[in-house]
Amino acid sequence: MGLLYNTYLNSNNIFGCKNCKAHLANHDDIISRNFRGQHGKAYLFNTVVNFEAGEPSERSMTTGRHVVRDITCRQCKTTVGWKYDKAFENNEKYKEGKFILEAELLCKIVRVQPMVVAAEGTPAPQDQDQNQSITIAAGTHIDMALYWENQNM
Ligand SMILES: [Zn+2]
Repeated sequence: MGLLYNTYLNSNNIFGCKNCKAHLANHDDIISRNFRGQHGKAYLFNTVVNFEAGEPSERSMTTGRHVVRDITCRQCKTTVGWKYDKAFENNEKYKEGKFILEAELLCKIVRVQPMVVAAEGTPAPQDQDQNQSITIAAGTHIDMALYWENQNM
């Protein structure tokens, strides 16, 4: 699986595109979990990476008129949310320049610290839970990320 996204986030808890696993945002950059998108639960983020934004369009939302752009994953072109360009209501201005990502379209990526396997065997219990039975030779360097989809988000 080749990951061709440009920006590689370095935090330990990352939200990625559910479809292609490209990194999209740091868990720590969530401003609010109190949003709804087309697919249900959605989060407001300070910043998002590896996206392309569409043309601005004016939309009436439950919180008033906004100018928004749909954002798509740069790698697989799936629409993952939208960006607020402008809010007309004063108490909605905090959303300007911020991003919505839809929880349903995200996967959670938990980075595992690089390690060296001391002896041949079956690695981390997390992998067994996911039914990925793999054997790793002694001395192998591992720098892997584990993916969960919509789990504990
Ligand atoms: Zn993608």
